[in-house]
Amino acid sequence: MIVKLLSYTKDPEQVVAAAIRQCYASVGAKELKQKIDKPTRQRLINQVLASGHTSTLEHASFTFGVEGVSRITEIQLVRHRVGTAYSIQSGRYVKRGDAKFVIPIAVKNNKIIYKKYTKILKDVQNLYNEMIDVGIKAEDARYLQPQSLQTKIVVTFNARALLHFLELRCCRRAQWEIQTMANLMLQSVKKVAPTIFASAGVTCITQKICWEGKMSCGLYQKIKDAEVRSRV
Ligand SMILES: Cc1cc2nc3c(=O)[nH]c(=O)nc-3n(C[C@H](O)[C@H](O)[C@H](O)COP(=O)(O)OP(=O)(O)OC[C@H]3O[C@@H](n4cnc5c(N)ncnc54)[C@H](O)[C@@H]3O)c2cc1C
Repeated sequence: MIVKLLSYTKDPEQVVAAAIRQCYASVGAKELKQKIDKPTRQRLINQVLASGHTSTLEHASFTFGVEGVSRITEIQLVRHRVGTAYSIQSGRYVKRGDAKFVIPIAVKNNKIIYKKYTKILKDVQNLYNEMIDVGIKAEDARYLQPQSLQTKIVVTFNARALLHFLELRCCRRAQWEIQTMANLMLQSVKKVAPTIFASAGVTCITQKICWEGKMSCGLYQKIKDAEVRSRV
């Protein structure tokens, strides 16, 4: 899997801090253009993160190029509706003669299953190519393709939406593939917006609270002072 931060709001923490300042001070556009010093930026951002009044984080956005993930992960990703934008490689216009497939480690670790799994993928790909060769459109041939088919996605999140996504998808309750993707995203945004994402990710680590209740994976038990809770 490749997850690359393609672009992001220039100086994201400055933009967010300026938006926060606008809420609490009488300054105007001219003053807001001036650089806010690092300690002040950090104080302002931590203030909204602590209170949960995070709409000002929507002024910064982050765009990722993702490739080598399955259609399963694509479906899970696009469930995140708010503060996001998606562009996904088209199965109608891009013929997939050289398609690649995700093979879970559990399958790789079982020699017999792996052999059967890869044979079926090969047969599927051969039939797909045969369909294209006889003139069946890619949009129809693609009905044959399995969920393991690798895809390419450009996804943009604003910082508020990304924090929410990371909370849900860095968690061990999320499936391994989207979990890997979320962790790679987190690593890259921490480099460019360290204050915004300092405490991003799974809540058993960031808040010392696992919100998964009975469904908890139990990781919180290994974290000092962490507890499991349920919202009801
Ligand atoms: C571990 C795990 C297991 C999952 N299992 C399943 C499953 O079995 N089946 C399944 O269908 N999905 C499943 N999901 C997907 C999950 O239900 C969400 O669709 C997905 O995580 C996106 O979250 P979201 O709706 O909070 O995000 P977004 O769509 O980005 O929404 C962000 C927030 O905006 C608010 N919001 C958004 N839309 C509305 C709305 N229409 N009305 C009111 N408020 C809104 C909510 O507060 C929401 O949390 C699973 C997710 C996880 C992490």
